[in-house]
Amino acid sequence: MSKTLAYAAQSPDTPLALLEIQRREVGPDDVAIDILYCGVCHSDLHTARNEWKNTLYPSVPGHEIVGTVTAIGRNVKHFKVGDIAGVGCMVDSCQHCSPCAEGIEQYCENGFTGTYNGPVFGGENTLGGYSSSIVVNQKFVLHIRHKDNLAAVAPLLCAGITTYSPLRQWKVGPGQKVGIVGLGGLGHMGVKIAAAMGAYVVLFTTSPNKREDALRLGAAEVVVSKNPQEMAAHANSFDFILNTVAAPHDLNQFLNLLKLDATMTLVGAPDSPHPSPNVFGLIFKRRRIAGSLIGGIAETQEMLDFCAEHNIVSDIEMIPMQSINQAYERMLKSDVKYRFVIDMATLKQSA
Ligand SMILES: [Zn+2]
Ligand SMILES: [Zn+2]
Repeated sequence: MSKTLAYAAQSPDTPLALLEIQRREVGPDDVAIDILYCGVCHSDLHTARNEWKNTLYPSVPGHEIVGTVTAIGRNVKHFKVGDIAGVGCMVDSCQHCSPCAEGIEQYCENGFTGTYNGPVFGGENTLGGYSSSIVVNQKFVLHIRHKDNLAAVAPLLCAGITTYSPLRQWKVGPGQKVGIVGLGGLGHMGVKIAAAMGAYVVLFTTSPNKREDALRLGAAEVVVSKNPQEMAAHANSFDFILNTVAAPHDLNQFLNLLKLDATMTLVGAPDSPHPSPNVFGLIFKRRRIAGSLIGGIAETQEMLDFCAEHNIVSDIEMIPMQSINQAYERMLKSDVKYRFVIDMATLKQSA
């Protein structure tokens, strides 16, 4: 075991604070990583505050991890000391069910092990990326091929793959009209990735003041979804819509924009259900509503390589570890463009 510094929540209503934790010894299949940067996802906040009623304490959030490999086990062939590596939302899965065999470990029938607050079906709590180091099985470690701007790479490990996977699943590409609903941590990645895939991207937002930003990020058009005339002009015209909004809202206004046989995929996790959609709108155009959860390890590597090739990173605001509690308050007000990333070098200053 080795000691490492971390920031942890001890209960739903105590702020995160310094905690010394243990990491396991580096096993034959393990990669040890010194964490350089960790992105701040909304799931971190939900978990730290037990909003999904399943939090194990102490809770060390963080699943958008980029760092330097410091040690490898004897079976590790594809990483070496000094490599830049990433860890996303998962650190293990059963490896024998049919989704695991297909490489879609996020749908593991026995429950994947989350990077924090895992495993899903019980077992010892896992502690995430708000820490100086982590030890992870090589199967769940990603290669980072970006040459610089590594802090801005970190959010690709959750926000990036969460948007990339459904865009790939529904075969988004050149010549297609694709809608992205919401311009937050997920939505801004969706706009960048869909545009890089060659689609004509339309960003839907409730805030007209996001127009310029959306165009800069790669949207061809911006539609203010509160404006019925603007929405009506796009009826029955979309090949695919990626809906990143977590707040409960009327899905019909977007479903009505889909063509015959087109799909809207939801990736936001609402606190309470969306109003039920109008079934006639689905039936008469054979439209589909789908969901999607992060992505498998192979697809996450594909996404990282795609983003390295297309020079895609997240738009971030870097914070010291000590500002995490204020950052959570700002996230609740959507006061971030578009992802906080913790500079993990600052963690030592708390020691
Ligand atoms: Zn996340
Ligand atoms: Zn499995």
